[in-house]
Amino acid sequence: MELWYTEEHTENVKFSMKVKEHIYSGKSDYQKVDVLDTYEFGKLLTLDGLVMVTEKDEFIYHDMIVHVPMAVNPAIKNVLVIGGGDGGTVRELMKYKSIEHVDMVEIDKMVCDVSKEYFPTISCELDNERVSLYYEDGIKFIKNKVNKYDLIIVDSTDPIGPGEGLFTKEFYSDCYQALSDNGILTNQSEGVIYNDLAKELIRSHSKIKDIFPISKIYQGSIPTYPTGYWLFGFASKKLDPLKDLDHKAWEQLSIQTKYYNTDLHKGAFYLPNHVKEIIENGNV
Ligand code: SAM
Repeated sequence: MELWYTEEHTENVKFSMKVKEHIYSGKSDYQKVDVLDTYEFGKLLTLDGLVMVTEKDEFIYHDMIVHVPMAVNPAIKNVLVIGGGDGGTVRELMKYKSIEHVDMVEIDKMVCDVSKEYFPTISCELDNERVSLYYEDGIKFIKNKVNKYDLIIVDSTDPIGPGEGLFTKEFYSDCYQALSDNGILTNQSEGVIYNDLAKELIRSHSKIKDIFPISKIYQGSIPTYPTGYWLFGFASKKLDPLKDLDHKAWEQLSIQTKYYNTDLHKGAFYLPNHVKEIIENGNV
């Protein structure tokens, strides 16, 4: 008998992967956590049935949410990661010796425990001595933090359930206050092809650009995310992701990446017309 995992992208579109084995199934106070071993993408982590990471393509998302800001401000020392329970974002951050400390705030300890058990190549730096792990709600954690972080990465689930509050104006204002003068915020910003995703993009981007002087959207191709075309947000108080990219300085660090490079960095911010139309005019 064949076993398949299916994610419903819309009521009219489904994405399926053939499964060797359903390795783990658990339920935390926040969400259902499952690990499946798939033929094409290796092990897959889902939360409430939605794709979070696969062994085969996780490097794309984690490269883009980390190395884009790190190549703009090589002086980043203190970082806050909200969400990121699989550990991939922290793994990429630990490649920088210049980073002194990372606070990682993941609401669901079960996600970290499952990732340590089944995804050692992704969670390998969660126990790094430069990382402090807090099993708390990022919405509460960020409150009353002032001028504490040079980079905040919101590596959250979609704006439903525990992740919903990470897409509000109040949360983004708290992030602004918590960032230093050269502070940068990056966040996963959903997609555009499906109207629901485009509406979430417009909602979050419009709030961020009301708060941050610089707010740009950039793109990456993630095969196992809805439509395979994914967007990220880059917001900052002063630094521009293209004008302030110091590609020579970044290349001298000799950071090993599987997806990111500084040419791709520039291209990621040159968006197709239909995407610009949605972002600039809010037309879906
Ligand atoms: N890369 C994935 C994506 O784009 O969907 C996200 C990966 S990571 C698994 C998302 C994490 O955000 C989950 O582990 C979830 O528990 C966490 N999360 C959701 N809401 C949160 C909140 N309010 N505070 C802290 N962590 C939260």
